[in-house]
Amino acid sequence: MKIVTRIAEMKVLTGEWRSAGLTIGLAPTMGYLHEGHLSLVRESRRRCDMTVVSIFVNPAQFGPGEDFQTYPRDFERDSMLLEKAGIDAVFHPAAPEMYPPGFKTHVEVSDLQDRLCGRSRPGHFRGVSTVVLKLFEIVGPDVAFFGWKDAQQLIILRRMAADLDLDVEIAACPIVREPDGLAMSSRNTYLSAAERRAALVLPKSLAEARRLMEAGERDAGRLTAAAKGVIEAEPLARIDYVEAVDVGTLEPLSRLSGEVLVAAAVYVGKTRLIDNLRLSIRGEPS
Ligand code: AMP
Repeated sequence: MKIVTRIAEMKVLTGEWRSAGLTIGLAPTMGYLHEGHLSLVRESRRRCDMTVVSIFVNPAQFGPGEDFQTYPRDFERDSMLLEKAGIDAVFHPAAPEMYPPGFKTHVEVSDLQDRLCGRSRPGHFRGVSTVVLKLFEIVGPDVAFFGWKDAQQLIILRRMAADLDLDVEIAACPIVREPDGLAMSSRNTYLSAAERRAALVLPKSLAEARRLMEAGERDAGRLTAAAKGVIEAEPLARIDYVEAVDVGTLEPLSRLSGEVLVAAAVYVGKTRLIDNLRLSIRGEPS
């Protein structure tokens, strides 16, 4: 496994692979890897000849007062896990390599970037889209792997790839959860023992939403109110949003139909956690 920190070196390496007729998979991450990340790696190894994982805590996607400085980092452990997972290269650039002095260009996926998490994290998805487009240009993957855990990110990046005619398939992998249901996240390490218990209201609220939808509830307001009720019962949790939206456009729904995304963000103590569920609703129940 090669560890690459320079853009030029990464381009040469993937250029050689491409010339040899090998397909390339990329899994972009911010490191502090867990099973969620490793599920993307396994899928890339299954589908592509060569796999690159990028580890870059991207300053451009953190707002002022967010956790850029304190975001957990452990490159040694991450490299060990990736070596064991059998990947071919880790791309681990320093921030000035990605954003040299004078950097001015950004990618905006308008409308989609302003909904859901975009409302409480202005500029976040502009930072994500920009860095991911750069990573695509640097690595030149045939397929890039992302998790449904960050559903809005995935939908935005699919839009970006389509709109800019990028020659990359955006592949989506299911959410990997802890045995008790909490979606895996590098930020879970911020939680105290009491907060970790309280965080379960997030998957529980989505489970309640699923139960109601499966029982025939088609009113989005009633559904999100019920999910919010579960979270509000937990004193350590504070709702940022719970919304039922169309999975393609992220527009809020009033009636639940088609491909529905129920997305939620909740502060547990100071830690902001996100989770979501997708359901296909065919027709109205009688
Ligand atoms: P991050 O390091 O948090 O930026 O995540 C890197 C990639 O891993 C993104 O595509 C995430 O959606 C994905 N990911 C993170 N956590 C999970 C999880 N629990 N299940 C599936 N994918 C995940």
